[in-house]
Amino acid sequence: MLDKTLLPAVFALLCSSGLVASAPLDETWYQPRDSPVASLFHKRYTPSPSDANFTSNYPAGSSTPPSSSLPASWLAKLASITMPNVSVSQPNNGYPQYPGGESGADQTICSFTYACTTEDDLYNPPAGVVALSFDDGPTPASIELYDYLIANNVSDKATHFMIGSNVMYNPTQFQAALDNGGHIAVHTWSHPYMTSLTNEQVLGELGWTMQVISDLNGGRLPKFWRPPFGDVDNRVRAIAKGVFGLETVVWNQDSGDWAIGHDPQYTNSSVNAMMSGWLTGSKSPGLLILEHEVNPNDIGVFMTNYPLMMSNGWSVKTVADAFSMDWYQNSADNKASVTTMSVGSGQLASNSSSSTSASASSSASTSVSSSASGSTSMTSTSSSSGTQASTSASSAAQGAANTGAAGVRYTLESCLWVGMAGLVGALLL
Ligand SMILES: [Zn+2]
Repeated sequence: MLDKTLLPAVFALLCSSGLVASAPLDETWYQPRDSPVASLFHKRYTPSPSDANFTSNYPAGSSTPPSSSLPASWLAKLASITMPNVSVSQPNNGYPQYPGGESGADQTICSFTYACTTEDDLYNPPAGVVALSFDDGPTPASIELYDYLIANNVSDKATHFMIGSNVMYNPTQFQAALDNGGHIAVHTWSHPYMTSLTNEQVLGELGWTMQVISDLNGGRLPKFWRPPFGDVDNRVRAIAKGVFGLETVVWNQDSGDWAIGHDPQYTNSSVNAMMSGWLTGSKSPGLLILEHEVNPNDIGVFMTNYPLMMSNGWSVKTVADAFSMDWYQNSADNKASVTTMSVGSGQLASNSSSSTSASASSSASTSVSSSASGSTSMTSTSSSSGTQASTSASSAAQGAANTGAAGVRYTLESCLWVGMAGLVGALLL
């Protein structure tokens, strides 16, 4: 017969050996079972890019994730938020068209393509600050950029707005950006015109990109996203912020680096001339320039102009640092611990405003009148409404929430309770 004094040790051995708790404990990912994070982005296990079936964890290919790929928790959260009355657009040469001839500049719609921004959009950094950002990575060309950033000690001062499918297909470059200290943000799964997508399609584009980034970054959930082509309106903003808690980042200058080799109006010299004009010009507001990490041309534009940022005394920061915000929704940066938080606010700012300093797509020049007064800050309403919305989503999607990270946590708790029971049992015997 087993000595009763050995029972706690036996239970401890069973726990540590996995015979009681067979699920692996992932030290980088800890969220309580009732956390909205667990309900929206539970971790099934730690996907590794070296696994042969790594891509099978995500939607196939580089197209908009199908509705069949959407977790019930995302759909429930979408159903819980208040949506503005804005229709799906039809893209027309980059200019979204709305049914009934409504203008994208209308305050209800507030399309950035028509130079409309809300007070929650991020595009004007503080004076003297360049909020450094690169879109469309990671790509095979990214490494040249990363090496340059390292050589100039600014690799931890750049935000990379990444395409989710690119992350899935180029995990080595993703890891390099992360290892270099880069700040990772969302640039959708397949780079579509977001205002032309249905609500569920918007959900898939944002959610799956957040999922793959958080999977490969210790559960850190992106806090910022940038709409491809700057195509965003109040409907898309509402989903980004309300369901996923994402801040919308646009820009106040478009380098046009993306057009070199595609549009004869944009050459290396013409783009460099624009860049040098901004970098040697006014420092107020700061600069948030649209730049890319797709090919040697656009990377070369940055490398040519970076010395000007230094010689003209600009302070280079990530987008998050430029606006004095945490890098991720549940972590201060790439190294800080992952904490509990509430995803999504459920609210869109009540009023939108326009800005002449924000520059939408280079050819979009329609101006709209400003009416920035009386707006309600989305940030100020986020915590209370976010909790309510998250709670209803959690209960609606309880089944989905009780797996993954929650499951790991659950087995750990079970193990501890079994151990305690063993101790009590030993004392009573
Ligand atoms: Zn892009």
